[in-house]
Amino acid sequence: MQTIIPSAPLAVVDPKSVKHPCFNKESSGTCGRVHLPVAPKCNIQCNYCNRKYDCVNESRPGVTSGILKPFQALEYTRQVLDKEPRITVIGIAGPGDPMANPAETLETMRLIRKEYPHMLFCLSSNGLAMPEYLDDLASLGVTHATVTLNTVDPAIGANIYAWVRDGNVVYRGQAAAELILGRQLESIAGLKSRGLAVKVNTIVIPGVNTIDNNAPIKAVAEKARELGVDLMNCMPMHPTAGTPFGELAEPGKEAVHALRAEIGHMVPQMTHCRRCRADAVGLLCNDRSTELGGVLSACSKLAPQNQSDRPYVAVATREGLLVNLHLGEAKRFQIWGLAESGGFRMIEERLAPSAGCGPSRWEDLARLLSDCRAVLVSALGEAPRAILTERGTLPAACSGFIEDALALAYGEDGLARLEALKARRGGLGKSCCGSGDGC
Ligand code: SF4
Ligand code: SF4
Repeated sequence: MQTIIPSAPLAVVDPKSVKHPCFNKESSGTCGRVHLPVAPKCNIQCNYCNRKYDCVNESRPGVTSGILKPFQALEYTRQVLDKEPRITVIGIAGPGDPMANPAETLETMRLIRKEYPHMLFCLSSNGLAMPEYLDDLASLGVTHATVTLNTVDPAIGANIYAWVRDGNVVYRGQAAAELILGRQLESIAGLKSRGLAVKVNTIVIPGVNTIDNNAPIKAVAEKARELGVDLMNCMPMHPTAGTPFGELAEPGKEAVHALRAEIGHMVPQMTHCRRCRADAVGLLCNDRSTELGGVLSACSKLAPQNQSDRPYVAVATREGLLVNLHLGEAKRFQIWGLAESGGFRMIEERLAPSAGCGPSRWEDLARLLSDCRAVLVSALGEAPRAILTERGTLPAACSGFIEDALALAYGEDGLARLEALKARRGGLGKSCCGSGDGC
C-alpha cells in the first residue's frame, strides 16, 4: 500500500504580508521594521525569563536603549524613518508585554496610525490581557500580531509559568496555566476573526515541551492550524542565568530544524527569526539598533510639549462611578482616555505609590501619571498639589460622576477651566470644581 506523506502548505503570501519581513522571508532583505519600546511591564513570569532583559518570547535578551512614552515614540519613528526609509513595519514587542501596558500601547498605535496610515503595524504579546483589547487593536489598524503559545497542555504550562497576574489576582500552577492558555486561544481566534495576520511563537524548552518526541509542540501546531494561524516560529530557548530554566541545555539547530520539518505541513514555519530586541530597527539581516541607540535615548528624554502629549486623565474612585477618594487615600488610580468611538474609556488601573514615603511619594506619583493631563480627586493637600502641578499633571478636586468630570477635563479649554475654577468651592453640581482643596 502506498504511503502518502503530507506536504507543507503552499507558500502563498497574504497580500498584507508581502512587505512584512517576518511574515514574508522574501522581503526580509528589502523591508525593515522598527520596534518601539513603550511597554516595560509584564503580567506573567516565564521560567526562562530574567526581567533584567527584554521579553524573550519575541526578543533575544538585551536591554533596550530606553523606554519611550507614546509621544516620544512618535518622534523617534519620524527620525528613524528619515534615516531608514526601507522600514515598512512598526511594531511593539516589549521589553515587557504590550497588553500589560495598554495605555501606552494603544496611544502609541493611535499616534502612529494617524501620521503613518500606510505602514504595517505589528505587535507581540503573551496573550493574557489581549482579549479585552481585540476591538481596539482592529480599529486602530493593527495588521499583524504574534501570540506566544508554548503549550496547549496546562500540566506542562504549570512548569513554564511561575505565576500569572490577572487584575489584582495572582495565579500559580495549573490554574495559572489554564487561565493563560484560555486567553491565548481566545486572542488568536479573535485576531483571526478580525482579519489580522497571526504568528504563533513557541519557545522550545528541552524536557518541558519537547517530551515524547516533541508531542506537546506538535499539539500546538495542530491547534494553530485549527485556528487558521498564518505562521509559527519555534524558537530555541536561550538559557538565562538566574532563572529556573537557566541550567537547561539550549536546543541544537539540527533538532529545531527537524522539528520544523516535522510540523511544517500543519503550519508554515518561520526559519529566518533573528530574535530581535525590543528596540530592533532596520532590516532583519542588518539591525541598526546600536547605531540608532543614541536617537532612541535622546527621544526618551523629550519633555511633553503640549496637552496632546498627555492623553489621559487619572481618577481616584472607590467604585468606578464617582470621583470620591482623597488623593492620599487612593491605593490605585483609574486611567481614562478618549474612546475611538467617541466618549471616554477606562484603559487601565495603576497602583499608587505606597503611603509613608514622605515627599518622594508624590514625586513617584507624578512619574506614574506623567502621561496624564489631570488627576481628579475628591481632595488633596498642598504638597502633592504643588508637585503634581509642577510636573504638568493638573490636580483637580471634584465631586460627582466620573464621566461629567472627564467631559470638563477634555472639553475645549478644559484645563484652563479647571485652573480658573480653582478658587470656587462647590456649585458645579456634577462637574469638577478644580479647587484642589476638595469641594
Ligand atoms: Fe518575560 Fe516576556 Fe515572559 Fe513577560 S512574557 S515573563 S517579559 S518572557
Ligand atoms: Fe512583528 Fe515580531 Fe517581526 Fe517585530 S519581530 S516586526 S513584533 S513579527
